[in-house]
Amino acid sequence: MKLIGVDIGGTGIKSALISCSRPADGSTYKIAHRSSVPTEAKYGREHIVENICKAVDNYRARTDCAVIGVGSAGDIDDATGKVTYATSALPGFTGLDLRGALKARFGGRVVVINDASAALIGEVYVGGSTGKRPMMLTLGTGLGCAMIADKEKLGCGSVLNIRLGHVVLHEGGRDCRCGKKGCAEMYVSATGIKMNAGREKVEEILFDPACAAAVDKFCADFKAVLDHACEKYDPDEILIGGGVVEMAEQWWDKLKNMCAPAVADRLKKAALGNRAALLGSAYAALNGDYGMQMSYDK
Ligand SMILES: [Zn+2]
Repeated sequence: MKLIGVDIGGTGIKSALISCSRPADGSTYKIAHRSSVPTEAKYGREHIVENICKAVDNYRARTDCAVIGVGSAGDIDDATGKVTYATSALPGFTGLDLRGALKARFGGRVVVINDASAALIGEVYVGGSTGKRPMMLTLGTGLGCAMIADKEKLGCGSVLNIRLGHVVLHEGGRDCRCGKKGCAEMYVSATGIKMNAGREKVEEILFDPACAAAVDKFCADFKAVLDHACEKYDPDEILIGGGVVEMAEQWWDKLKNMCAPAVADRLKKAALGNRAALLGSAYAALNGDYGMQMSYDK
């Protein structure tokens, strides 16, 4: 059968047509087609929703697929698919009934969950997670975080969405889209790398030896976030996903060398890379609700 997965970030909206087969020895999920459109967040909520619909329409035009899974930045009430909180990265999204809007347009089954939760579900069910207490960090425009406290007890309330990106890392530091200053996601994300270097293209920064100090700073800040996450949540596996992990060869070893072995040993690149949230949101849409509860890390 066919599923549509959508991953909404502050910069781009990725979408995929996913084929799922269910042989007796376990389901498989494969991306058949994949595309991306710019979010164009500055034009506001209606425009972003229109772009999301375009991303879905891409595939609806060529299939009768009636299952749509959406992972979105921001806090999502997964029972209703409403956005309960989003920063100005998605202007106007706080309070938006995203599931309702997509259901009105497309009908069928629509599930909306947080993007980091979607990426974690993707890694756990389709990708390479082996931990019992896996945590996912997604580095894109912002820094997303989700965790499963005990994989053996999966069920209601087991996937926690954690606001790690808005833990203050540098008191009085960079202005964050949430209104605070010095939040982790202004340093440990694509946005952070760009600000460190004062340049716009992350891939150019990572590959330019002249920007080594900017990459070092990114790694040092990332290490601080990992130390905090380990101390507070004690995950036994930390999966790193999002767009920045696609260029991990430029910073992965540096980061691992900075971390204490007890932290470095838990780090793992998401096996699905930047596709984890697409596959995870589709998986969640097909396999039901996860009763994900919100946790606020202030
Ligand atoms: Zn913030």
